[in-house]
Amino acid sequence: MLAAMPPSSPNPQDRGEAHIRDRVPDRVRERGDACPGALRLHRADDGALARLRIPTGVLTPRQVRVLADASDRLGDGHLSLTSRGNVELRGLGEGCGLQLADALREAGLLPSERHERVRNMVVSPLAGAQVRAWAARLDELLCAEDWTTELSGRFLFAVDDGRGDVAALAPDVTLLAEAAGTALVRIGQAAYRVSSADAPRAALAAADAFLAAAREAGTGAWRVRELPAGQDVDVAEHLRRAAIAAEYVADAALPVGAPPAPGVVGDRSVCVLARLGRVTTAQFRALLPAREVRVTPWRGFVLPDFADRVAAEQRLRALDEAGFITRSDSPWAEVSACTGRPGCAKSLSDVRADARPREGALPVHWSGCARRCGHPQGAWIDMVATAEGAYQVTVQGSTK
Ligand code: SF4
Repeated sequence: MLAAMPPSSPNPQDRGEAHIRDRVPDRVRERGDACPGALRLHRADDGALARLRIPTGVLTPRQVRVLADASDRLGDGHLSLTSRGNVELRGLGEGCGLQLADALREAGLLPSERHERVRNMVVSPLAGAQVRAWAARLDELLCAEDWTTELSGRFLFAVDDGRGDVAALAPDVTLLAEAAGTALVRIGQAAYRVSSADAPRAALAAADAFLAAAREAGTGAWRVRELPAGQDVDVAEHLRRAAIAAEYVADAALPVGAPPAPGVVGDRSVCVLARLGRVTTAQFRALLPAREVRVTPWRGFVLPDFADRVAAEQRLRALDEAGFITRSDSPWAEVSACTGRPGCAKSLSDVRADARPREGALPVHWSGCARRCGHPQGAWIDMVATAEGAYQVTVQGSTK
């Protein structure tokens, strides 16, 4: 049984510092959130860019076709995948925003235009029905509330089925399935156990608690880790207000799991990766037929529910021929790159043309400048352009 009322909130940001209430807070964000979206296009050097959130990670076959057609008709004939499982269309011509929005709306990809940039969620791609239902419900709740539009386009929810794959992606709020059928909702270092039925609402309450804390701090924080040290995030109070029974869990450790490897997963699912996170529309259409296409935050796709292993292996071979990475020992499986030139004016080189695999156990990420957009989590070999075709090589990140 869960306790009827949660205890008063421990401080998720508490790193041993005392509360500091009487100082002028240092602002961590001076500018508004300029994250691109499907409606707010970003002007890049290769044309406009639209970033589409896919909160549950699931695309229907029709949505796959609509995105491919939109890229062929309005963009550059490719689709890019981000480290949050978003899909980007690039090279969009002037004045095509309305046509794109119409296509996305008709395909059910824009359930709430006001919320399209705050539907940031990563979901375990191999999760079962219950966890997928949490994600879908959380998305509905996000889109149903006015206040959620105050979240930044960077605030990230993770809905993890217990294996720790998406919980490892540094989300702001994590919903983690537990073996007993309950859910752990975690924000910063604070974790609460709630019933499965309450899990999506608990994640929303945690986000509400963050916004209250961000307002109180007054530093313009977009993410939990940007709150000042010592700033209280009173999750317990927000769970209480939402009438959610919760039990505080001290020192809750989140599992750290690996993403699904390319190949046949289990006996009836197929996982593939997009080389350098980008596919042609022909490759994208080659994912069909499928009951659904799941976009992963590791720049790949999972196709579930093949009739048997033979059918899954057959499809894997077809996707290999279509140019996907289908084996974990592929030298390209651990290579990623930012947009680079010609898409990004900041780039000192054509990163995607330069990128190639490197020997070693760590993933390698190629960047056109020191911003290192899209770099992996954990430790990686870091290739940063210093001039046309020249790169500085270091190891970045941590293996902890
Ligand atoms: S890392 Fe630099 S060059 Fe690459 S996309 Fe980001 S800003 Fe552009």
